[in-house]
Amino acid sequence: MDAPAMTVPVTAPPATVPQADLGAAYRAQRPAIDAAVERVLTSGWYILGGECAAFEREYAQWMGQKRAIGCANGTDALMLILRGLGIGPGMTVATVSHTAVATVAAIEMVGATPLLLDIDPDTFTMDPDELVAVLEDPPPGLPPIRAVIPVHLYGHPCDLTPMMAACRAAGVAVIEDCAQAHGALLGGTKVGRFGDAAAFSLYPTKNLGALGDAGVLSTDDEELAERIAAIRQYGWKRRYMSDAVGVNSRLDEMQAAILRVRLPLLNAANARRRQIAAAYDAALAGGPIAPPVRQGDVEHVYHQYVIRSTERDALSERLRTHGVATAIHYPAAVHQQDAYRDRTPLGPAACAETELAVREVLSLPIFPELTDAQVEQVCAALRQEVR
Ligand SMILES: *Cc1c(COP(=O)(O)O)cnc(C)c1O
Repeated sequence: MDAPAMTVPVTAPPATVPQADLGAAYRAQRPAIDAAVERVLTSGWYILGGECAAFEREYAQWMGQKRAIGCANGTDALMLILRGLGIGPGMTVATVSHTAVATVAAIEMVGATPLLLDIDPDTFTMDPDELVAVLEDPPPGLPPIRAVIPVHLYGHPCDLTPMMAACRAAGVAVIEDCAQAHGALLGGTKVGRFGDAAAFSLYPTKNLGALGDAGVLSTDDEELAERIAAIRQYGWKRRYMSDAVGVNSRLDEMQAAILRVRLPLLNAANARRRQIAAAYDAALAGGPIAPPVRQGDVEHVYHQYVIRSTERDALSERLRTHGVATAIHYPAAVHQQDAYRDRTPLGPAACAETELAVREVLSLPIFPELTDAQVEQVCAALRQEVR
């Protein structure tokens, strides 16, 4: 077969700043991660062992909570909390449509009905007023609302104070989706400590990421933790004896050992993300596109640095000519995707702000291993193209 014709660029393109680079973190931490993996390989114990138990203790301590439970992924962390709280068929769980589809998938995994609320356009997180409204006056034809899953999207905490008050008054459980917000603070307190329990994805791209699939959930409710620990492994408290109906969602020792290397580095990694965000904020200052909002007394952890533009696709192309890669989180809201369209109930706001946001959001490169030169390359591109 003939080789395909090749076009050779006349001038070399500028160095590329990737939107994400998972290999960079591994290369930076290689000796410690390799040693942790070797320790597991030679131990002869590969699933739910000493590394997992140690990671759970260390994560609970880092959160300032009583218990943390490792599991297979962030979707399962949400599902396990829902099951542990007894949420299932004949119950509605309110969340947002502007999220990773996983949030909604977890609700349907337990047989509950999702109700999708709109977002505050400034923070991209659940509109507390709409939540208060549906708790007071639930949409007709839906099973009773028994739980709410606020999502701290992009690393910005939800406006939890009015939501918690409304949920407590209504006797509705709160499960925080912290998959993008490990270490974010609201009023000086880590998100994940406000609700009944919190779910964290440890997918490789997340602020705390494994080198494979992993998840963890945290809570101060010891009884809930015990129930979930059993559900995670076939409902076992004793081996081969299912006291409750469970699933298989275990954390493997290799991922737990890798996460134990990374957890002590997480605060510094989040600080580096904030430093990069501050540089982008400065490059955008005074221009037509506002930097991401930090609303109230929050510490943002910039899982993503998201700007809005009515000419989003053209801007993405122009940034690409400067070697700057971007991404879209997410190009369609959950209720706009084929699997959910026309069958998933929406709140009274009909997700109007959500539908605007998905057309305009653009995520710039942000990860702790970006070099200062790469950050400056992004800033120069912004100064030139956003004016
Ligand atoms: C990543 C993510 C999840 C799901 O996590 P997995 O580990 O991929 O199952 C859930 N919610 C949000 C907001 C996420 O970003």
